[in-house]
Amino acid sequence: MQNENYVALLGTKGGPAIRPGSTMPTSSLLSLAGRQIVIDCGLGVTRGLVDQGVQLRDLSLIFITHLHSDHYLELGPLIHTAWTAGLQSRIDVWGPEGLDAYWDSFLASMKADIDLRIEDEGRPNLREMVRLHTIDEGTVIEGPDLKVKAIRTIHPPLVDCFAFSFEAAGRRVVFSGDTAYMPALAEFARGADLLVHEAMLESAIPALLARIGYDNEKLKEHLFRSHTCAADAARTATDAKVLRLALHHLLPSDDPDYTQQHWRDAVAPHWDGMLHVGTDGMRIDLD
Ligand SMILES: [Zn+2]
Ligand SMILES: [Zn+2]
Repeated sequence: MQNENYVALLGTKGGPAIRPGSTMPTSSLLSLAGRQIVIDCGLGVTRGLVDQGVQLRDLSLIFITHLHSDHYLELGPLIHTAWTAGLQSRIDVWGPEGLDAYWDSFLASMKADIDLRIEDEGRPNLREMVRLHTIDEGTVIEGPDLKVKAIRTIHPPLVDCFAFSFEAAGRRVVFSGDTAYMPALAEFARGADLLVHEAMLESAIPALLARIGYDNEKLKEHLFRSHTCAADAARTATDAKVLRLALHHLLPSDDPDYTQQHWRDAVAPHWDGMLHVGTDGMRIDLD
């Protein structure tokens, strides 16, 4: 199982709040050429990885697209849990500027427990096991068996929000990160085996705003300025000539009036390739 090439969508809802019946915020697992790469660490990432059969002590590479809580709230708990699950080697975490402050504060908040486990259980020093790297646009990793690139997306008011391209074993997978419709993403994703794109179902947004029920105009403006309608995600996939399109970070994600078929109908006029409308735990085979 360790050598299969696949993407598992661990959490597929857009936004941080969960309610009874909700799916979970954003996190994904990319298993490529024997490597297991975590992309975003929204609430539920640890459970999601274990459900995929991942041994947390084997984690070594984590990427965070941006500093909205639905993408990094569980980063510290994931790494801490991997440590208690027997982690012995280094974890490299790549993310935007400011992630180091989160990590330092997480370590400080758990000082009592971390000191105790080092002292009492003889565990290695967690503080020395995690290396944080600040991402900018361009090449992130240029290794013989893994290439990672990043570009900035359109996700105001944030500036440091990134899309990632991962390439290994002759396969390439692109994650859009959170973004408004961005034609330049098609160039970035050109010819990829899979594009995992965030998506919003335009026809369902009025009902979503009505349910939330506060300052609708402001939230509506935020949604359309910072996120992508399913039809535009489909356009990007077609322009990029990717092999498969997966939608995640779904808005809405928990409205029973809107089903897989609504998403498929929104995409159909603009994309006729393989489509995966994300559900938590969905595996997309890359072989
Ligand atoms: Zn988000
Ligand atoms: Zn965001």
